[in-house]
Amino acid sequence: MSNILAREHNVSEIIISEDKLKNRIQELGKQITNDYKNKKLLVIGVLKGCFVFMADLIREINLPCEIDFMYITSYNKNTISSGVINIVKDLSIDISGYDLLIIEDILDTGLTLETLCTLLQTRKPNSMKICTLLDKPSRRKSNIYADYVGFVIEDNFVIGYGLDYAEEYRNLPYIGIYNQNT
Ligand code: 5GP
Repeated sequence: MSNILAREHNVSEIIISEDKLKNRIQELGKQITNDYKNKKLLVIGVLKGCFVFMADLIREINLPCEIDFMYITSYNKNTISSGVINIVKDLSIDISGYDLLIIEDILDTGLTLETLCTLLQTRKPNSMKICTLLDKPSRRKSNIYADYVGFVIEDNFVIGYGLDYAEEYRNLPYIGIYNQNT
């Protein structure tokens, strides 16, 4: 990736390249394929940030599976999660009896996912696991953890590969640190 493109998109540093993303997602896909044999797998994407990661990941899962999406927003307008969620779009199927794999772009404080998982648990799935592309454990404010983690990262605000800053930059093919000083 050229430096010119990186600058144009306010990326101060590319921390995960396209190649690294591809390789790691292949590994995750293999692991999930092994773990979900003979299960009733339903992959649930948490929009919007998950969509690029999920599209690549499901093509590395060599099993029958269904997919669905939830679109949730946090009531808090700041960059810090409140844990109070607004369901913009709910799931379209009854999840009882399914083995859920929830796909997140990034696990930060974990408050959003904790609220979401508590809600989904009331709908009686057979099992529920979390797969996140990125994990910032240093920021955690809940007991939630991911069963599958693409990359553990430091406490920087990152963009690209589905992640936004003010709704832009989701189409960058890599993960970069957003340059807040421009
Ligand atoms: P949590 O409730 O775990 O704090 O919030 C997770 C959500 O916050 C993510 O799904 C994402 O939308 C947003 N978020 C947290 N950290 C970042 C980050 O570094 N970059 C971007 N673009 N979004 C983030």
